[in-house]
Amino acid sequence: VRKHKVAVIGSGNWGTTVAKLVAESTHENPDLFEEDVQMWVYEEQVVLPKDSPHYDAAVGDQPQKLTSIINTHHENVKYLSGIALPKNVVANPSLQDTVKDASILIFNFPHEFIANILKQLKGHVAPYARGISCIKGVTVTDDKVELICEHIGESLNIYCGALSGGNIATEIANEMWCETTIAYNTPPCDKRGADGSNDQHLDSHGQVTKTPLVPLPHDLPPLDHAELRKLFDRPYFTVSMVSDVVGVSLGGALKNIVALACGFVEGHGWNMTAKTAVMRRGMLEILAFGREFFPETIQEKTLWEESAGWGDMIVSCTSARNWRYSKMAVERGVSVQEIERTELNGQKLQGISTSREVSSFLRAKGVEERYPLFKAVELILDQKINVDDIPKLFRK
Ligand code: NAD
Repeated sequence: VRKHKVAVIGSGNWGTTVAKLVAESTHENPDLFEEDVQMWVYEEQVVLPKDSPHYDAAVGDQPQKLTSIINTHHENVKYLSGIALPKNVVANPSLQDTVKDASILIFNFPHEFIANILKQLKGHVAPYARGISCIKGVTVTDDKVELICEHIGESLNIYCGALSGGNIATEIANEMWCETTIAYNTPPCDKRGADGSNDQHLDSHGQVTKTPLVPLPHDLPPLDHAELRKLFDRPYFTVSMVSDVVGVSLGGALKNIVALACGFVEGHGWNMTAKTAVMRRGMLEILAFGREFFPETIQEKTLWEESAGWGDMIVSCTSARNWRYSKMAVERGVSVQEIERTELNGQKLQGISTSREVSSFLRAKGVEERYPLFKAVELILDQKINVDDIPKLFRK
């Protein structure tokens, strides 16, 4: 009997953490999953410092491949140092080899690499493979908003759900308890008992997808909410399963704009009352955005009740990157873009590009005035208004 083969595409801070937790689950559920989890690593040369527990005097300060270090020492020294990985996480420098025969693909890398990675994967994934995207963000142009999971699904002609929540990788890697939401709208053709005649699937706008899906073969175990929970849920990571990919994806992407606003008001010297107002209004704008652009499919309950909604909003506005650095920018009297350049060591503040794309899209649709908080963030990024001006934007 075949079992699901799991591959994780990406091995940064979050990718390595998710590989750790799914590898623990594949080990505990040998009836459902093959034990080894392949993890694609963007190959880099790493020099281990003398005080590293893995330092080898015979190698000295010669650079070594990150994949060999991970497979020898079971630690991703570059992106998740100090965390012991299960031995069944196998670092693989080849994208094509990582996904070979895998039936479950977990996408977990920064948004900016998506086009290049999908191009390389095309034609190499199993036609019946199913995906879960852990990548936060949406792709917005002036014409449309596209969910990342759906973009992945359409590019590879597979079905792809989304995982998002109030999650900080290092805390979860250290097994501090937290919760997450997985949105997976099980394709009708995968339901056991389906006779193979219904290979259609509805997209996030309620339309039948262009290309029919290839059903999951019957010699593989089923893949529905129960099995996905078995793969991701850990004693320290509580998974809630929903079918609303729209709510989960919009919550994960748009909260970054709100987090910038929270940093602005806090950097200005205002406190919890102002942050609460920003968070509440931010959530109302996320809900309005969902109702306006995904009227057929949004389930508002997800944003109110799930970790991918309010949970992620609270973490992002009180302890994550966009909030921290926008606060620093106002405190120092410089632009957020300046802080991004000088303080982030090449990492990006996702909120800046999301704010610009979303504002441009709302302007193109002529509805910008209905989203005063989103508008305020763009105006502050462009240094056209000050934090003091924010309350005026809400006056009717
Ligand atoms: P990260 O910054 O730690 O990852 C960087 C990764 O990019 C590394 O694996 C690196 O090898 C790879 N990389 C570098 N250059 C590359 C290139 N040219 N081509 C391809 N890959 C390259 O990112 P992360 O924190 O793991 O975030 C991944 C996703 O997970 C993001 O969408 C993020 O929003 C989301 N997320 C992160 C966290 C978190 O706490 N870190 C939590 C929840 C969700």
